[in-house]
Amino acid sequence: MHTIAAIATPPGQGGIAVIRLSGPDCRAIASRVFRPASGRRLEDAKGYTALFGHFVRDGRVCDEVVALVFRAPHSYTGEDVVELSCHGGAAAPAALLQACIENGAAPAGPGEFTRRAFENGRISLTQAEAVMDLIGATGRQGAAAAAAALEGALARRIGRLRDSLTALAGHLAAWVDFPEEDVPELEDAALDSTLAAAEAELQSMIDGYGAGAVLRRGVDTAIVGSPNVGKSTLLNLLSGFERAIVTSIAGTTRDVVEQQVQLGGVRLNLFDTAGLRDTADIVEAEGIRRSYAQLERAGLVLAVFDASRPVCPEDLALGERCKGRPSLAILNKTDLPRQFDADAVRPFFTDIIEISARDTQFLPAVTTAIEKILGVCDIDPDAGMLASQRQLDAAVRAVSAVRDARAARMGGFDLDAVGVCVDDALHALYQLTGEEAPAAVIDEVFSTFCVGK
Ligand code: GDP
Repeated sequence: MHTIAAIATPPGQGGIAVIRLSGPDCRAIASRVFRPASGRRLEDAKGYTALFGHFVRDGRVCDEVVALVFRAPHSYTGEDVVELSCHGGAAAPAALLQACIENGAAPAGPGEFTRRAFENGRISLTQAEAVMDLIGATGRQGAAAAAAALEGALARRIGRLRDSLTALAGHLAAWVDFPEEDVPELEDAALDSTLAAAEAELQSMIDGYGAGAVLRRGVDTAIVGSPNVGKSTLLNLLSGFERAIVTSIAGTTRDVVEQQVQLGGVRLNLFDTAGLRDTADIVEAEGIRRSYAQLERAGLVLAVFDASRPVCPEDLALGERCKGRPSLAILNKTDLPRQFDADAVRPFFTDIIEISARDTQFLPAVTTAIEKILGVCDIDPDAGMLASQRQLDAAVRAVSAVRDARAARMGGFDLDAVGVCVDDALHALYQLTGEEAPAAVIDEVFSTFCVGK
């Protein structure tokens, strides 16, 4: 195994940058570029020691450096590791990395450190994926979910399932292969209750996937409605400052205004769109075309109506477009005398609330309604959630194999057929955790990583 090196910290100005080396020669390579101040030898340093010293190149001191030494298997990768902390910025880390490479290290590929941790059995594939999720997490709950997966919550949840199916598969195989031996036949009720429990557990993981994805990545949210209903005021309410220009002139927002806001545990990528109305103005018409396009793409639609005027045909047309999507109807301007009939639009939307967007006391109600629609209220980030399309696909294959097993038994098939389906479910679970994932799948997972991780 060769020794790899990369800058582990993000590019840009910063106090400190870290160059990470992993592999059998990492201490030898580091000691060619790092001179300890105390005269101790880096090569002899025990695990978990820090040495202060200098980055020396061609006999010249280039920077002050702290070297951290980790000994296999007690390191991130499970190999010998040295981390060199130098000053941040563009020049110093690049020069130090270059010196490591000139002295025998190979530049690390994307995710190569984490891949080595996976290949050395330090972490499962789901934990490796969680590393990237944690780095990319935007909100508190998303980070909590990724941290739980990293800590192994998902791997343990799958492990429990696998253990119960493995015991079942063993029993089935024994009964099928040695019918003449004294293997007690499985009680049909016990067989089905094990399979039913596995099916329920897999289905609950699959059901939680959408909400989990919302926690990790946030959700694209379109604010739509006729001109002047208060869309920009709502955007300002949600973002807590004057982001959009609010005027009483219809057609003020001509393009899509984007804003990311953290609402409760969720990040919304908000798009305030041009008011939807018939117009002869070509710039405004283009804005309206984009509004509809945003609506089609959004994971959540906030449709704003002016409660101080009667329902008009445009309101119903907008309702039609929102039908079947996760959507919240917001009746705004309830501080004014009411003219709007909420029942006319209610059937089109997932939920409906009444607010005055100018008044911040309505913010908690909007937040709760949105969290309810996105299904993130009852999520326990510590439970171990599926965190990628790859994991979801494997869980779907597993649940359908478990269903086939149940159907085979109910249809009167022999236990042999049931055993084949249970084996299929187990294969899908092994693929989920990476124990049986093909190399191409593993390559794909790590290709999304950044260099240095
Ligand atoms: P947009 O065109 O849909 O983005 O609407 P704006 O946010 O620009 O608001 C249009 C007008 O309605 C502005 O004069 C706002 O101050 C006013 N407005 C917005 N929300 C409320 C509200 O809750 N109550 C009242 N009375 N006026 C509001």
